[in-house]
Amino acid sequence: MGRSARDERLLRALEEVRARCPVNERRASDPVEFVHQYADVLDRELVALLASAMAFGNVKALRAKIADALARIGPEVARAAEDPEALRSCLRGWKHRVYTAEDLVCLLLGARRMQREAGSLGEALADALRRTGTLREALSSWTQGIRVAGGLQHRATRGAAHILADPGKGSAAKRLLLMLRWMARPADGVDLGMWPIPPAALIIPVDVHIQKLGYNIGLTDRRTTNWKTAEEITAALRRFDPEDPVKYDFALCHLGMLQRCPSRRDPARCDGCGVMPVCRHWSQEVRREGRKAQTDG
Ligand code: SF4
Repeated sequence: MGRSARDERLLRALEEVRARCPVNERRASDPVEFVHQYADVLDRELVALLASAMAFGNVKALRAKIADALARIGPEVARAAEDPEALRSCLRGWKHRVYTAEDLVCLLLGARRMQREAGSLGEALADALRRTGTLREALSSWTQGIRVAGGLQHRATRGAAHILADPGKGSAAKRLLLMLRWMARPADGVDLGMWPIPPAALIIPVDVHIQKLGYNIGLTDRRTTNWKTAEEITAALRRFDPEDPVKYDFALCHLGMLQRCPSRRDPARCDGCGVMPVCRHWSQEVRREGRKAQTDG
């Protein structure tokens, strides 16, 4: 069955947003850049886990904190995570929002232990996916494995609770899904294509901005930011590429107006928005203009 006219327009808009995204420039200011600075697979996995865990709030501030933590740890992250006391010592005094140095230490120790047992974090997650059959359950089991191995579950702090989401509880688990996109999507200069997880199984990382955008362009009718919404947006994106539904995520996240989208027709603030032709706040007007142009013509 062919695509509807609306889907054709939506696909064109998404492709254009993707084609216009200045990838190198945007990657330089994205937390994924830290992962690219390492060559070793095990180091990259740990850096991805650490950087994605902090990927919320002000980008400049979080990048500075990630850079500080990584500078303290040194260039061999996996090796550093073999020595709990040395790791504690180099991170002493580090803090970011709800996270303390000890939250980070537990995260890295747990992840390193999982690497030693499974060969890599990617292998451990692929194994969980084979066992459970769903990404949500696999991620739940995988994060629980890291929590237990690192002792996070014994820490009654906000940081320890927040540092690894549990998708089983229904949250959107945006930071986990972001890391998964980095590690499992085919290498394209941003994502690294390192984990044996099929890109078709990925779910789009959804925060309030992507939820709002998804609603505005008709990828979801849901107004909440949770796992169900992420699944619904991903299902809609599968219509355009069933093998790689989250390939538009990076470009959409770096759409200039994402942070200041007014979610209403606002000529000044919407000016230049790449998805305006398919935005529900504009599309009727665009159609009307199209009809008028035909009549005038
Ligand atoms: S056109 Fe305006 S309201 Fe629609 S998504 Fe873009 S910025 Fe938001």
